[in-house]
Amino acid sequence: MTTANPTPASYDNDNIFAKILRGELPCHKVYEDDATFAFMDIMPRADGHTLVIPKNPSRNMLDVDPKDIAAVMETVQKIARAQMTAFGAEGITIQQFNEPAGGQVVFHLHMHVIPRHDGIKLKPHTGDMADGDLLAGHAQALKKALGTSE
Ligand code: 5GP
Repeated sequence: MTTANPTPASYDNDNIFAKILRGELPCHKVYEDDATFAFMDIMPRADGHTLVIPKNPSRNMLDVDPKDIAAVMETVQKIARAQMTAFGAEGITIQQFNEPAGGQVVFHLHMHVIPRHDGIKLKPHTGDMADGDLLAGHAQALKKALGTSE
């Protein structure tokens, strides 16, 4: 066994979610406030799979400011409640991965918020890309449940 290294790797300003936050890459936005941003996962593990990220740069749980964790979790709760309504969910799974060894693929902190139904297994992590129109419809359904649709 090697000695644990408590120093996390540094934040990369060019990660995919940083580009989404800057509007340089498209996404299906669900919700935004001063500190957080929520959008549909492009490879959903179930219909309605949403990602919640802080606007401030942080790589993962190892370097994030606790205030940003608090803001993110408030938004996670909003999204989870909206998913119960929008997708008739029977439960919600929340996942979060840190560093490659922990399963992290994109290095801007994010929480996965996933609607669940009894007996339906999750699809694979980073599996198939979903159809854009389907994701747009799911984002719209969530905005309606949040009371923020135009
Ligand atoms: P993690 O870093 O938590 O292991 O996984 C990254 C997540 O981001 C995966 O669920 C993957 O489907 C999602 N993802 C990767 N690239 C994109 C992208 O360009 N847009 C969106 N909306 N999601 C992405």
